[in-house]
Amino acid sequence: MRIVETIAELRAVRGEMRTSGVSRVGFAPTMGALHDGHVALFRRARIDSDVVVASVFVNPSQFNNAADLAAYPRQEQRDNEIATAAGVDVMFMPPVDEMYPAGFATSIEIGGAALGFEGDHRPGHFRGVATVCLKLFTIVEPDRVYLGQKDAQQVAVLRQLVRDVNLPLEIVVVPTVREAGELARSSRNARLSAEARACALAIPRALRAALLAHRANADPIVAARQVLDDGGLDIDYVAVAHFDGQPTLVVAATAGTTRLIDNVPLEHPDLAGLS
Ligand code: AMP
Repeated sequence: MRIVETIAELRAVRGEMRTSGVSRVGFAPTMGALHDGHVALFRRARIDSDVVVASVFVNPSQFNNAADLAAYPRQEQRDNEIATAAGVDVMFMPPVDEMYPAGFATSIEIGGAALGFEGDHRPGHFRGVATVCLKLFTIVEPDRVYLGQKDAQQVAVLRQLVRDVNLPLEIVVVPTVREAGELARSSRNARLSAEARACALAIPRALRAALLAHRANADPIVAARQVLDDGGLDIDYVAVAHFDGQPTLVVAATAGTTRLIDNVPLEHPDLAGLS
């Protein structure tokens, strides 16, 4: 795996791909602390692509909370081992000042899918996501971008970005990968105490309850809330969002001090890693 830290080198590598006739470049952007969820994106990209590019960049502009940014787990060497084993060819790991040099003053103001839910609870979050992803997409020039269903609103936001600014790439959504107890894998899970982890398990249980209710023509929000209310979590929202027309039960809640999000598309639970 080739590790690239500058935009100029990544562009040169991309140029070499073009001259050597590589026709399918797959790209999976991440913030590192890689786990099985990220590996699922890399593996899917590996199947579809001639060259797989991944990035690890903890993007300061998408954090609305300085303590969250400071506490975000970082494990560069391990990330490189995991990415290599999963078949990544090129790893882009730019320092912050490579992406945001002095004088940087542009950001993508994104509406539509970015409004509500995470958009309300994390002001500026999707502006940061859209801005960094537009930069990454124009640097890497992928044919396909691999994103996780785990962050369903992020998928909708990036689909909108791609549509609105006419980027010539396809988005591929990979099902949510879960750990024991069906807790969705997240880099933030490492911060859960044993007690908080036990509380967090109410989230996948609530998704299952919502799914059962939906199948029985009952209210999925009421069903999910009942489970969550008993779980000792601090709930930000439980709602049905319509991302790209798909009714999706979305949950955001804090277990201990760790804020978690999860979701299930009610008509396509397989995408959520539930069935
Ligand atoms: P992150 O490093 O958290 O910014 O995530 C990078 C990419 O990995 C995003 O497209 C996420 O949706 C995806 N991802 C994170 N966790 C999971 C998971 N448990 N299952 C599938 N994809 C995931």
